Amino acid sequence: MSDPEFHDVVIAGGGMTGASLARALAGSGLRVAVIEPFPPGDPGQPGFDDRALALAFGTARILNNLGCWSRLRDEVNPITSIHVSEQGHFGFTRLHADNEGVEALGYVVPARALGQALLRDIRGLDGVEWLSPARLQRFDTFRTHVALTLEHDGKARRINTALLVGADGGRSIIRERLNIPTRRTDYAQHAVVCNVQTRQPHHNIAYERFTDAGPMAMLPMTGQRSALVWSVRDDRLDELLNQSDRDFTATAERHFGQRLGRFEQAGKRSAHPLEMLRAETSTAPRVVLIGNAAHTLHPIAGQGFNLGIRDVAVLAEVLGDATRQGIDPGGEQPRGRYANWRQRDQRWVARATDSLVQIFGNPLAPIRAARGFGLTALDNLPTAKHLLARGAMGLAGHLPRLAREEPAHD
Ligand SMILES: Cc1cc2nc3c(=O)[nH]c(=O)nc-3n(C[C@H](O)[C@H](O)[C@H](O)COP(=O)(O)OP(=O)(O)OC[C@H]3O[C@@H](n4cnc5c(N)ncnc54)[C@H](O)[C@@H]3O)c2cc1C
Repeated sequence: MSDPEFHDVVIAGGGMTGASLARALAGSGLRVAVIEPFPPGDPGQPGFDDRALALAFGTARILNNLGCWSRLRDEVNPITSIHVSEQGHFGFTRLHADNEGVEALGYVVPARALGQALLRDIRGLDGVEWLSPARLQRFDTFRTHVALTLEHDGKARRINTALLVGADGGRSIIRERLNIPTRRTDYAQHAVVCNVQTRQPHHNIAYERFTDAGPMAMLPMTGQRSALVWSVRDDRLDELLNQSDRDFTATAERHFGQRLGRFEQAGKRSAHPLEMLRAETSTAPRVVLIGNAAHTLHPIAGQGFNLGIRDVAVLAEVLGDATRQGIDPGGEQPRGRYANWRQRDQRWVARATDSLVQIFGNPLAPIRAARGFGLTALDNLPTAKHLLARGAMGLAGHLPRLAREEPAHD
């Protein structure tokens, strides 16, 4: 049998983070392969469904550098303010793009449109081989390479690589086969997601409202719609999914309040189980985990992909630098540099997201009172608000070149 073909980098998973990394590495001089069960454009790929995503300002910069942003133009709605409040309490806080000197704090885009923009010309990218339908089945790590076995188009195929990147999502088989320990919190919640037509215009404001039935985000979309992401306890899920459209819009409106006027119409509802999962390490010999494979977050702060694309931008930079210096891309130096660089951001965002879920999910009266006070106090603390805004915009800490609108490699 002939020797298996060799790639410098193999990315297992062509979802949002895997596809972004493929784009970021195109033209770097590295020979890259992506393994993905769903062919580009397949409507069944779960990551690219009808959900709306809030993309941070920094994420938009990275996508612009990857050549995708202009393709999203007709689908993108800016977020110029974020308004945070709690049902039944006066306290609220607001963040404004003007105060941060930017045109938007972030943007809302349907996941399906983002998928189309990322995957459109993916098969023609310089140095990137896109293998699908293909699935990674097993791998063995050696001192000099990783040997992979995949099923590609119904046939077994073997390839070797210097570096295996696990972008295979929250149920990552790479993470599991390596027995990388994880911290997992099952929130016993689902996100109920749908688009809502409201009587009043959203004025590009994103609302985060903490209600007694769970946190609700209303994200401003094109066509005067808002995307509702409502995280509800599992014991309320069936009731909300089984309600008629009319009853559901009335229930959602009652919890959200009157800031957008009447909820006139709601689109198809979908439900997503919610958990937090963090791999204790995102690297192992000749392996790096990125995106949901390394950290799966509650959507309360809309940070999951925003964090994952920063993994991508840093990894692309580290690998690009290693290539220029003639360093083995799967060796210890690039992996160590990646892990050090990403650790702080990953830990901080995961902890902040989990704290929000815990604090705003607590029904005790003193905690509720403290929350209201906290929101009002925050609204009067410009420096704290500025730091919060920079974090939410994905502009905190040591930024990779792609997030500073510079190419990841020459
Ligand atoms: C309700 C909800 C709302 C959200 N809202 C936001 C938001 O507003 N902003 C935000 O930034 N994030 C948000 N997120 C998070 C965001 O959706 C995820 O962070 C993102 O989808 C993760 O992408 P990924 O590519 O890492 O993983 P996935 O999307 O899970 O992709 C993994 C890929 O790997 C492939 N795969 C699996 N197994 C194998 C295998 N053995 N071999 C090869 N390939 C394999 C799969 O087919 C898939 O394409 C939200 C999430 C939810 C649930």
